[in-house]
Amino acid sequence: MADDRVHTVIIGGGFAGVYAARRLKSADVRVTVLDRGTSHVFQPLLYQCATGLLSEGDIASPLRHLLRRHKNLDVLLGEASGIDVENRTITATRFDGSTFTIGYDHLIVGAGMRQSYHGNEQFAAHAPGMKTIDDALAIRRKIVSSFEIAETLATAELRRPWLTFVVSGGGPTGVEIAGQIREMATRALAREFDTIDPAEADVVLVHGGARVLESFHPRLSHKAQRILDKIGVRTLLGHHVTDVGADHASITDKDTKATHRIDTHTVLWTAGVEAVPFAAALAAATGVTQGRGGTIPVRPDLTVEGHPTISVVGDMMSLDDLPGVAEVAMQSGYHAAHNIARAVGGSPAPYTPFTYRDLGTAAYIARYHALLQSGPLRLSGFLGWLGWGGIHITFLAGTRNRTWTLASWAAAIIGGGRGERVITYGDPETARRPYV
Ligand SMILES: Cc1cc2nc3c(=O)[nH]c(=O)nc-3n(C[C@H](O)[C@H](O)[C@H](O)COP(=O)(O)OP(=O)(O)OC[C@H]3O[C@@H](n4cnc5c(N)ncnc54)[C@H](O)[C@@H]3O)c2cc1C
Repeated sequence: MADDRVHTVIIGGGFAGVYAARRLKSADVRVTVLDRGTSHVFQPLLYQCATGLLSEGDIASPLRHLLRRHKNLDVLLGEASGIDVENRTITATRFDGSTFTIGYDHLIVGAGMRQSYHGNEQFAAHAPGMKTIDDALAIRRKIVSSFEIAETLATAELRRPWLTFVVSGGGPTGVEIAGQIREMATRALAREFDTIDPAEADVVLVHGGARVLESFHPRLSHKAQRILDKIGVRTLLGHHVTDVGADHASITDKDTKATHRIDTHTVLWTAGVEAVPFAAALAAATGVTQGRGGTIPVRPDLTVEGHPTISVVGDMMSLDDLPGVAEVAMQSGYHAAHNIARAVGGSPAPYTPFTYRDLGTAAYIARYHALLQSGPLRLSGFLGWLGWGGIHITFLAGTRNRTWTLASWAAAIIGGGRGERVITYGDPETARRPYV
């Protein structure tokens, strides 16, 4: 029997998409979630997957499983690649390159951002970003194989570039991955190698700003810097990575423009994001001008100007300089869906403005050290670390993932080991697949 309920399509099964779906679970609508991947990925812990602490399964939940109790919802695998706002259809591209269309009555777009190389796309070949499970596994492959290659080399001089790790970007992701590489080297790997001393790993954190973690209060970011110094991360403030190759990174002083070369086989890129390509198709179809990083400007009720049936939420929306963080994504996804549920329910004025409740942010620095900032509350050190752990476990999707993540953390604290160091050598077919 045909289902003639109002059809809401949600593009993206990230934080925004999943919270939109949750709000619509009990609404009298039919829901389709379209995602280019099969899983909801908990991006804040990607760096722990990249450094062998957690498995990819610990931080990703299959969308079909996660949303299995939503009787009004279907999940479709495909990448939104076009939109016809007149006929209210989305074109989606399947994994094999073929396409299909989906009609909608209401559309919620929460397709997020991808890594930006600021016009230097050639860097991507040597400096993976940190946005997807593929990225995390590529980084893990680079880090693990660097130590393994160094072990086979005869002299310290030959080994040095393999034991040098350059991280571009001193925001939370850059700080977290830099700290984790040092911890991995000094704790998990220290006893396992014969020729090399993994503790010699030279981790260089390159940041253009005057202090790391600029979104935090200066007092907290200075505390973070002290911990980074203590665990042996070398921080270069006021510098940019201006060139990347298979065997080097060029670092340029922002003020003097002096450039020096670091011989390295591992450069990791966390410096900047831009909207995924679908945002350009959406902007062209709706006639809006893309904002910073290609984001889509929205009205206070999260709909696109002149298109009351299209809402943009999460990282891809541009509204009042709200930050690209998980809380904004969850709350905006929920709010857009709430407005749709009210409209379908017959409310005379369903589209209410979105109000963001800032519940705070957290960043991991090293074992027993994290920052937590929420309004006037500013925690660092062990208390910050406890708060950080609590927040991440709370928002990690699925009981299985929470349990395994807690178990992996406990094992790492007690034994110092990192069991998730399997590397694969990539799938040539999917590696070539373009991001349409
Ligand atoms: C490494 C890292 C660490 C972070 N740490 C923190 C943190 O500690 N705290 C915090 O608050 N925030 C953190 N963030 C930011 C946070 O993860 C994002 O703000 C949040 O994921 C945004 O949610 P979203 O739903 O808008 O987008 P996403 O979570 O990115 O989800 C977008 C979804 O859309 C899908 N998609 C993309 N394009 C298409 C398309 N064309 N068609 C179909 N599907 C598509 C993607 O596969 C994805 O599932 C971090 C981000 C990263 C990358």
